[in-house]
Amino acid sequence: MNTPLTITEASCADDYDPNSMPVDKARTFINTFLSPVNGVARVALRSALGRVLAADIISPVNVPAHRNSAMDGWAIRFADLQAGTTTLTEIGASFAGVPFGKSIGTNECARIFTGGVVPDGADTIIMQERAQVGGINGKSITFSDGIVFSQNVRHAGEDLKAGAVALATGRIVRSAELGLIASLGIGEVSVYRPLRVAFFSTGDELVQIGNPLGEGQIYDSNRYTLHGMLTRMGADVIDMGVVRDNPAVLEAAFIDASKIADVVITSGGVSVGEADYVKGLLQKLGEVVFWKIAMKPGRPLAYGKIGDAHFFGLPGNPVSVMVTFYQFVRDALMILQGVSPLPVQPLLKAVCTSPIKKAPGRTEFQRGVLYLEDGGFKVRVTGEQGSGILKSMSDANCFIMLHDNVGNVAAGATVDVQILEGVV
Ligand code: AMP
Ligand code: MG
Repeated sequence: MNTPLTITEASCADDYDPNSMPVDKARTFINTFLSPVNGVARVALRSALGRVLAADIISPVNVPAHRNSAMDGWAIRFADLQAGTTTLTEIGASFAGVPFGKSIGTNECARIFTGGVVPDGADTIIMQERAQVGGINGKSITFSDGIVFSQNVRHAGEDLKAGAVALATGRIVRSAELGLIASLGIGEVSVYRPLRVAFFSTGDELVQIGNPLGEGQIYDSNRYTLHGMLTRMGADVIDMGVVRDNPAVLEAAFIDASKIADVVITSGGVSVGEADYVKGLLQKLGEVVFWKIAMKPGRPLAYGKIGDAHFFGLPGNPVSVMVTFYQFVRDALMILQGVSPLPVQPLLKAVCTSPIKKAPGRTEFQRGVLYLEDGGFKVRVTGEQGSGILKSMSDANCFIMLHDNVGNVAAGATVDVQILEGVV
């Protein structure tokens, strides 16, 4: 892939301080190096859920295939209607799946049900609420005024014409897409293969669950949140466990991971205190930049390539892992996975119910609960916001996104909110 920058140039590019990289710039920079994985599989339709289309879905048929009714009512000829009321003779019925099969002539009508094929001769459907049934045998149907030509008729091909692109390459197959593809009679689709993502935690203080904690030790939680987020994104996850802060062991882990995976993700070891040591290692193995991102939480971050694998070095703090994953890794994985265009992540405006202390010059992601009150969105902060406090993530349904230029937020001020959806 031709890219305007090499990865290591990012740390000395001219118009920003490499010691404090704005969130948007880092994201844009990373995205420059990403292109979809090679590898496409044909899968049965149901197995495509959550995967990404690797070829356009072309409609082999008109949808709907036949002119049909959008209502229960009567199929009539508009030209038969007179001013005031009109009485027509019902000569048959068209059910969904069981067409009438004959045409209707002058002053005739046919009973019709939703989805029923509109008989030849008819051009308009009158809903049953606007009709009165009369006559000895109940076949004289009287319609009131105010009918519009062609109303309640669904035309063949009005959703989709045969030969048209129903869904383009790059679309994520969700429930609606499963149904849409099925409605075309297609039972097998081409999708990109899942990404292989290897990840491990670094830190001498980490203990695997199932073992007792010694003094100063903590349980490794990041591998569990990463497992969750990666699995929710449809990746094939390769959990490589905890790797000690030991150069030889770390080097071997980086090499192994980069050989078996498209993407390598680590947590911990990229903060100022530890970065130099990991930095040296990765300089040997690949091309990696270490940033201090102008954000909170999640200041330290590394990105680069180790061999052919993309590498994300996330911070160690559990909340930072989730925030940086959401802000950087999520989109990157989508691009690698072939998603195009990236789905819009809407920012909502909400009234913040409490004051928030905030220094300008960095983007902050406070964890919040978004709710509707008095017809408008409100958001409250989920208590303690320390970057180690996972409860703040667990209680949240959104990030309150306080942009670079924003300072302290007063109670009642309007803030931007990013809804947590699909990943966390
Ligand atoms: P580091 O970025 O390695 O300096 O780690 C920052 C903080 O996150 C430290 O308090 C670590 O103990 C903690 N931490 C690092 N890795 C993990 C992990 N896998 N699970 C839970 N906490 C972690
Ligand atoms: Mg560490």
